[in-house]
Amino acid sequence: MSVDSKARYQFKRMLEDLASKRGRGTELISVYITPDFEIVKVIQQLRNEQGTAANIKSKTTRKNVISALERIVQFLRTYADTHRRPPSNGMAIFCGNVAGREDIADIKLYWVEPPEQITIRMYRCDQEFVLDPLREMLQVKETVGVLVMDRREATLATLRGKRIDIVRKLTSGVPGKHGKGGQSARRFERLIEIAAHDYAKRVAEAANEIFSQISDLRAVIVGGPGPTKDEFLKSELLQDRVKNKIAGVLDTGYTDEQGVKEVVNKSGEILADLDILKEKSLIQRFMEELVAGRGLATYGEREIRHSLELGAVELLLISEGIRKNRVTAKCQSCGHELQETVEDVEKFKKQLSARECPSCGETRLSLVESKDVVQELLELADQFGAGAEFISTETEEGKQLLIAFKGLAALLRFRPAA
Ligand SMILES: [Zn+2]
Repeated sequence: MSVDSKARYQFKRMLEDLASKRGRGTELISVYITPDFEIVKVIQQLRNEQGTAANIKSKTTRKNVISALERIVQFLRTYADTHRRPPSNGMAIFCGNVAGREDIADIKLYWVEPPEQITIRMYRCDQEFVLDPLREMLQVKETVGVLVMDRREATLATLRGKRIDIVRKLTSGVPGKHGKGGQSARRFERLIEIAAHDYAKRVAEAANEIFSQISDLRAVIVGGPGPTKDEFLKSELLQDRVKNKIAGVLDTGYTDEQGVKEVVNKSGEILADLDILKEKSLIQRFMEELVAGRGLATYGEREIRHSLELGAVELLLISEGIRKNRVTAKCQSCGHELQETVEDVEKFKKQLSARECPSCGETRLSLVESKDVVQELLELADQFGAGAEFISTETEEGKQLLIAFKGLAALLRFRPAA
């Protein structure tokens, strides 16, 4: 598991959390600041917005918006004491009354330096926080190779995020079908065949060269209007490392930039299928190993924690549906600490006040730490050299992981001692 996917998980959960906040009126403020923008100028703009907010009709909304703006300004002032400009990727600030009730004001401020650069400046007041610009950053940005071809021309392109680059264009020079009969027609057919083969070879050489150089190549998608692409794929001209990445072959109307766009438009579906396929095969591998009974598969949080700490885990499978926290409580009398995994931290906190310390018997346990359990396991995985993959809950296999195995499974390198 790379640092990237851990940060990604954290970022994703944060967006989920922000998305759950609702204002009673249009009182939740989202501010997006590009990295080149001076903080003092942002403060000036927010001051102006405070003036405008004075015209808001609803008294509570007005009060909440003005307080939230004040809070953001204070935050930026403190930030500007040490920084003239935002961080290198810019920053997004979310602030407002998240109590969701009229009689209570609970103005909270959240801010984030996103994993990618913020490219738009925005100030928005709404019933919810504006998160789409951040959500877009979550999309996987590996490169997809695109080849569209027919018997006349071929276009090779790469797709990364939303960016399409046309890398090369080739033409065949193969003449169209001819009406002549007899000897010369046969000779002509032969010439066409040679030219077509030469063209296919050139296309394959280009694809082999271009696609095999891409270090984060996720998939190759091939398109084109007729049977030429299928014949080309059957011809064995592509190297295995390119061929093995082919995730889809589809019909398009064109073989130029337009054709590439047609492929890109359908690529989302193809890539989603690819993810699902990968997830399914991981769960199947786990199930097979479990049935084989060699002790090289395990599940359950306690077992997985144990195996991780022994360095026995090769790959951790984590359901995206897990919402649990690892809590630590400490006895204020004797200092005894206990750790548990719970779904509802608030509930745990309440129950603690009546609970006896297992060490001294006093009822003086209090919560000292609470951490997302997935985050914690990812850190353990990192520390003990285990890989990790997230499994969605959209497939039968994914649901099975969440329900039957409580969302956690692991493939092991060796059988841990009991
Ligand atoms: Zn105690």
